Order: sequence, then C-alpha cells, then structure tokens
Amino acid sequence: MSYRLVCRACHKELFEDCYRCPECGGVLDCRFDLKDKTYYSSVIKNAQTFWDYKPLLPLKGENYITIGEGSTALVDAERLATKLSVRKVLVKNEGQNPTGTFKDRCLSVGYSKAKEMKAPATVIGSAGNAGAAAAAYAAKSELPCFVMVPATTSMERVVQTLMYGANMIKINGNVSDCIEMLTKVCRARGWHNMTTAHPCNPFQAEGTKTIAYELARELDWRMPDWVIVPIGGGGILTGIYKGFCDMKALGLIDKMPRMAGVQEDGCSAVVNAFQIHAKPEEVKRVECPSGVAVAINDAYPLDGGTALAAIYDSSGYAEKVNAQEIADAQSLLGSTAGVFAEPASACSIAGLVKLLNKGVIGSEHTVVCIVTGSGLKDTSFAISHANSPQVVNMDDAELSGAIERCLSISK
Ligand SMILES: *Cc1c(COP(=O)(O)O)cnc(C)c1O
Ligand SMILES: [Zn+2]
Repeated sequence: MSYRLVCRACHKELFEDCYRCPECGGVLDCRFDLKDKTYYSSVIKNAQTFWDYKPLLPLKGENYITIGEGSTALVDAERLATKLSVRKVLVKNEGQNPTGTFKDRCLSVGYSKAKEMKAPATVIGSAGNAGAAAAAYAAKSELPCFVMVPATTSMERVVQTLMYGANMIKINGNVSDCIEMLTKVCRARGWHNMTTAHPCNPFQAEGTKTIAYELARELDWRMPDWVIVPIGGGGILTGIYKGFCDMKALGLIDKMPRMAGVQEDGCSAVVNAFQIHAKPEEVKRVECPSGVAVAINDAYPLDGGTALAAIYDSSGYAEKVNAQEIADAQSLLGSTAGVFAEPASACSIAGLVKLLNKGVIGSEHTVVCIVTGSGLKDTSFAISHANSPQVVNMDDAELSGAIERCLSISK
C-alpha cells in the first residue's frame, strides 16, 4: 500500500480507511511514502493523463471513476503579459474540466474512494461548483448524492447539478453553514461526506496536487517565480503546494515557486490573517461574508490554516481584490487570452494586476495564474458589466450603423 492515514492531532497511524480519526476525531492526512524516488519520479515524469498519477492517489484497488478530468491547457497569455509589462503569464485553464472547474480532480478521487469504501450514499456542502462535480461523479459511479448549496447559488450551477440527477437542497445560509449542517446528517445516516475541504474528506484533497505535477511537466520542470491561486476554503492552494513539495523531495524540480493567494474583500479570512502576520491556526471566521466571487465566499476557510502555512513557507503573498477589479480582470483575460473565467477565477488575474502594481511581483517574473473555473458557471456577473449587443432589423443601413458604432467603441 502506497499511503497511510496519519492523525494531525494524536499522530496515530491508521490502516483502515476513514474520514476522521476514530480515536480523537482529528483531521487525517494521506501520507505517501516517496522513498522509492526512481519509481515515483517516473510516475510524475511519464504521466499523460490524470489517472496516470494513480500511484500517488489514495486508492487501494484497481478501479476508479473518471469522466475525463485533468490534463487542462496551460495557455501562454502573451498579449496579457505585454499589456501588464510582465515577462510571462501562463494561465492554467481548469475551466476545461468535465464539469467546468478543478473540483473534478477532487471528486474523481473522492468518488473513487467512496465506491471503494462501499458508501451507502454521499452528501456534499458546496457553493455550487463542488456540488455539480459531485453530482456528475455520483452519476458515473452509481452512488446516491445529496447536494446542499446556499439558496442564492447561480442557476447555471443548480441546473447542471439537477441534470446529473442529484438530489439538491437549497439552504438559507452560506456555504460554511451548509457544510456544518451536513456533518450531522453524515453522523446520523452513515453517509460519506464529499465536501471538498480536507477536514471533511482527506481523500479528495489529494486531487489538486496533480495541477502542480501537470504544470511542472508542461513547463519542462522549470518552475515559475509565482503561482497565483484564488482561496475559498484554501484546499486548492494547499494541494498545489503539496504537489510542488513532492516534486522537490523527489528531485524533479530544484526551485519552489512562491504561492500567492487571492480573496475578495468582503470575504478574506486568510488575507486578513496574513496582513497581521497571524499564525496559521489563528485564521478567523468572517462574519457576514459578501461578494461577487461566490465560489470563494467561505466565511470560515476550513483549509485556511494550511493555505496560509504554504504562503509563509514559500515566501508568498496574500492579497484581496474588489468587485470592480474582478470585473476588469474578467474582461481583460477574456479579451486578450480567449479564456472566460468565472468571477472567483478572475481573482488570480486581478491579484496579478494588484501585486504588479504593488511591486510584489516584478516585471522580470514568470507567473502562472490558476483559472479555477469556467465563466459559463456564473453568467450574471459578467452580464452585469459587459456591453449589451445592439439589436438591428434586417436592414443593411441599420447593420452598417451598428458596425460603425462597434468600431468607434473599440477604438
Ligand atoms: C472551489 C473553488 C475555488 C476555491 O477552492 P478552495 O479549495 O475552496 O480554496 C476557487 N474557484 C472556483 C471556481 C471554485 O469552484
Ligand atoms: Zn487522532
């Protein structure tokens, strides 16, 4: 067996799969013994698809659930880099995953594990993207699925989840409230918790490190100076950093990139902690979270401590951006790189702009921005700041006038 579970609180090692420490209720970590460096290096070096990383994913058997996750494009955003006067900007477009966000990497692993553990049913608390991903993998794996989301979740995410055949319940509360409610459901019914936060499910958390593995291969093992990641619960930033640490330990890379975490100003628990140099365990819940980047609107970031630790460890940075900066970044990325990012994902571009202006990131740097999800996940925000198209009749002169107006605007 390639991994063991170790309790963060009592340090007990477990050989039986479970979601929390049976002794003390502590959070569990999957630890892979990377002693056989040649073997694991060759796994990471030679992988062509997500499941080629299987020896580094926490499964015991041969079977896994896939709908084509991972292997997303790394787009060279040359025009964006020129506009911002920075050496190189690369965009890892996680919107290309089957359900439109990186959550597919998490839930592909999560459902493979749940199936292996013979889960009677699954349940997830989510802002909508993880819920949609869970619903898709539940459908593929033939496991019952309950998705609990804030009542305000975008119609795109709701309808996607329903089409995958999941049971969906809207909660009058925020995503942290949804996650808290379902902990009791899991305990009472013995259902498996697929929530994409490490304390809820340590298996799914292993999925995001594959983003780092893919990046390293795509960059020919030459690390960028910075990797910019939006922070919701903090799981994706933590996971990507773990992937870089693995590759450093294996000798596949010699330099660690600096990790920059970005949050929106109405919901910025990790950034607030960073700004006062707080310890990772001192990240504090935000009362009344608000913002347009709803996918990262976590009042209490369950992986905020490990994300902050990764930021400190890598001499990184944490920054907040506002709704206008997100809107500008969304338009800029779309119109210069051909990548339509949802508001939460546009935060990595907005963060890049801000950190360049602050002088934290220099013009000589190479930067990778993680675009965590597709703009089609939440069109209402984009519609609110996009120009509306003109409507004309079937009349040549009217059409000509409309074209002229377009040309004068784009000048
Ligand atoms: C979930 C999500 C995030 C945040 O990920 P965490 O692991 O919660 O930090 C960012 N962007 C999108 C599009 C998401 O769905
Ligand atoms: Zn324990």
